[in-house]
Amino acid sequence: MDIQDHRQIGQRQELFHQQEEGAGMVFWHPRGLQLYRAVEDHIRRRMKALGFREVRTPQLLSRALWEKSGHWDKFGGGMFQLEAEGRAWALKPMSCPGHIELFKHRRRSWRELPLRYCEFGAVHRNEPSGALHGLARARAFVQDDAHIFCRADQVEAEVRRFAETLGRIYRDFGFPAGAQVVGFSTRPAERAGGDAGWDRAEAALAAAAKAAGIDLVPQPGEGAFYGPKLEFKLADRAGRLWQCGTIQYDLVLPERLDASYVAADGRAARPVILHQAVLGSVERFLALLLEQHGGRLPLWLAPDQVLVASVSAGAAVAARDAAAAFEAAGLRVHLDDGDERIGRKLALGRKLGIPAVAILGAAEAAEGSVSLSLPAAAERRLPLGEAVAVLARAAGAPA
Ligand SMILES: [Zn+2]
Repeated sequence: MDIQDHRQIGQRQELFHQQEEGAGMVFWHPRGLQLYRAVEDHIRRRMKALGFREVRTPQLLSRALWEKSGHWDKFGGGMFQLEAEGRAWALKPMSCPGHIELFKHRRRSWRELPLRYCEFGAVHRNEPSGALHGLARARAFVQDDAHIFCRADQVEAEVRRFAETLGRIYRDFGFPAGAQVVGFSTRPAERAGGDAGWDRAEAALAAAAKAAGIDLVPQPGEGAFYGPKLEFKLADRAGRLWQCGTIQYDLVLPERLDASYVAADGRAARPVILHQAVLGSVERFLALLLEQHGGRLPLWLAPDQVLVASVSAGAAVAARDAAAAFEAAGLRVHLDDGDERIGRKLALGRKLGIPAVAILGAAEAAEGSVSLSLPAAAERRLPLGEAVAVLARAAGAPA
């Protein structure tokens, strides 16, 4: 099987590039950012359906907060630091403390739980340069970071719903159910918290996975120091597994950052915090996605969904009008109304991985139609309005 590296696909399709001055960072070109947004928007829709509210928290926070949260101890070497006005700061490597500050901003009642936040958080981690690998291992990436604040008796239902949705989202993106492996990382030798808490946390995750019909691969001793995790891994075309989604039960942070709510009996109580992510790193997921599809993404995801090309100079105006009509319907359009031969325009469209093609020649220009080809369907000449409707229907994201 011919497996294409996502970096080659990114170069050929003008999606992104990287260069030495920003080692581990990504320059997203317009077409790449269109793909990025399409992926983000789909996650946004699914998270909203699960009851998450989207938030945004600061990029840079004082070192004192990272010390308090414990990230400085465990993660400090991987954090980019700077100094301003005599204070020490650090770029966030994750959004957890930000979300906890949102939760703590005012008094919370048991009635508000489960309270669910999600963020497309731009994070930085100082990976050694030897470990960098295109989008799959970068120093700056966006983590679809989500947290649920809930009671212990709500954990199982939350984890089950999230786990079911994860599987569904991976299938939406074209990863078959068989491409997913879910690891269950349990208590490590060096850990915080007592055994009773660990027993409860591990039992809740295992029961939720069972209810969601997920077979777990045991990973004894591989849990985080703060709690057990479910780790959702996707296999790439070569069969290598990459960690993407995760659900983690946190036994430490609520205490450390003193998060509390007012329980039904009027007393202060500690919430459970669940850390979750669907994609993990959006960049890494895009690497997998591009390789999974060999750069030929399905219509709903493709950076440009339709190539609108004129056959002759006389059809250029009609091509521009058609492109405007497709765009007005919310489609992503690549217009080619230049003087080149149609064969070259189509070849460029294939190179860029544009799945649909709308061609306009003299006949189409005269009658207000386009010749439309969709993936795996014969070309049809349709009135422009109908072609727009047909393509818009075919290009919808999975329901
Ligand atoms: Zn977190």
